[in-house]
Amino acid sequence: MISVRALAIMAVILLAMPLTAFAKTCELSITGNDQMQYNKSELVVGAECDKVKLTLEHVGQLAVEQMGHNWALTKTAVAKPVAQAGSGAGLAKDYLPEGDDRVIAATDMIGGGETTSVTFDVSSLENGGDYTYFCSFPGHYSIMKGKLVVK
Ligand code: ZN
Repeated sequence: MISVRALAIMAVILLAMPLTAFAKTCELSITGNDQMQYNKSELVVGAECDKVKLTLEHVGQLAVEQMGHNWALTKTAVAKPVAQAGSGAGLAKDYLPEGDDRVIAATDMIGGGETTSVTFDVSSLENGGDYTYFCSFPGHYSIMKGKLVVK
């Protein structure tokens, strides 16, 4: 005989499954242009988001070799050293240090007219943590950066 208690536990498990199967993905978007600028200096992730899908659109016309843009996310404290390390990595590596776990998320490097996106877990971010996103193309870090706020 299956006890009432066991049936109750099974019911709870079955009820809980759809909640985990439909994790909430929040969408963020940002653009980069031929003037080496993002259109946003801050992005906000709500606490209700399980995942974030960040879409980057390059609204300029210059090629990736001249005016490439990506969107890379790190803790603010390590953003500059990661960008510096990335400068020497080359376009084939999207100007990011390979296998560097300081990079929380990053899109591909794209040129004018292109769009790319990256999806990452909000669970990898601390609520109230200090995060910076930036373009790792050589020389772009000083201008192309902003804060990612989790709240
Ligand atoms: Zn750039």
